[in-house]
Amino acid sequence: MRQVTTVSGMQRLARRWKAEGQGIGFVPTMGYLHAGHLSLVKKARQCAGDDGKVVVSIYVNPLQFGPQEDWSRYPRDLARDQKLCLEAGVDVLFIPTDEEMYPAAGVPGGAHSTYVIEDTLSRRLEGASRPAHFRGVTTVVAKLFNQVLPDYAVFGAKDYQQAAIVQRMARDLNFPVKIVAAPTLREADGLALSSRNKYLSEEERPQAAILWQAIQQAKKAVQAAPEPLAADALKQQLVQLIQSQPAARVDYVDFFNPATLEPVAQAQHGTHLALAVYVGKTRLIDNAGM
Ligand code: AMP
Repeated sequence: MRQVTTVSGMQRLARRWKAEGQGIGFVPTMGYLHAGHLSLVKKARQCAGDDGKVVVSIYVNPLQFGPQEDWSRYPRDLARDQKLCLEAGVDVLFIPTDEEMYPAAGVPGGAHSTYVIEDTLSRRLEGASRPAHFRGVTTVVAKLFNQVLPDYAVFGAKDYQQAAIVQRMARDLNFPVKIVAAPTLREADGLALSSRNKYLSEEERPQAAILWQAIQQAKKAVQAAPEPLAADALKQQLVQLIQSQPAARVDYVDFFNPATLEPVAQAQHGTHLALAVYVGKTRLIDNAGM
């Protein structure tokens, strides 16, 4: 496994692979890898083929964190990530430094002033709770696409809205990359794997399964109902269920159209549910189709 830390080095390598006719599968991450990330790597390998190349990037992108958010304390363990990627058959681990990604003001050619903004899907849900978050995501993903030149880029359904926005960006801006979505991997009690689960205390961890329990309850209600259900009433039930855990506080619970992300008045088969819940100080998100 090769490790690359510069943009120019990554682009050189990607161009060489392209000239040789090798497909490139790409998994962008913020590191502190878990089995969910590794399932994306597997998917990228399937897409690129045995003769193709798989690139994993690790970059904790400051641009997508709000001023009060956890950028500086986001969990990092490069040695462990390197080992996991090696074992997973990754060809290149791309770990750009902040200086490579966003050359500082004062440096010739430095200071970042160009952003990619998806202007529709990114306004709701996570975008409403975390202003400028998706601007940071689309900007860094666009940069990464120009650095890694992937044929396939794999994103987790765990971040449903993010995958939808990246898909829209790639379409709108004609990035020659196929966006592939991969299913959410979960712990035995249903909690979606996430690097942020590390923040949960011993008392909070079992309570975090409430997101999955809410999803299950919603699915059951929708599937059992002979007719579409009033989304607001169902939402209230889910909020109540979630707040029954002492450490849990709901940020949002939303039923929406999976294609447009527009809210729906009625929940039925095919409607999508997304939720964001603080468990203690840790903000967790999850989603599922009904
Ligand atoms: P992150 O490192 O959290 O930015 O995530 C990198 C990629 O892994 C994103 O495409 C996420 O959606 C995906 N991902 C995160 N958690 C999971 C999970 N539990 N199952 C599948 N994919 C995931």
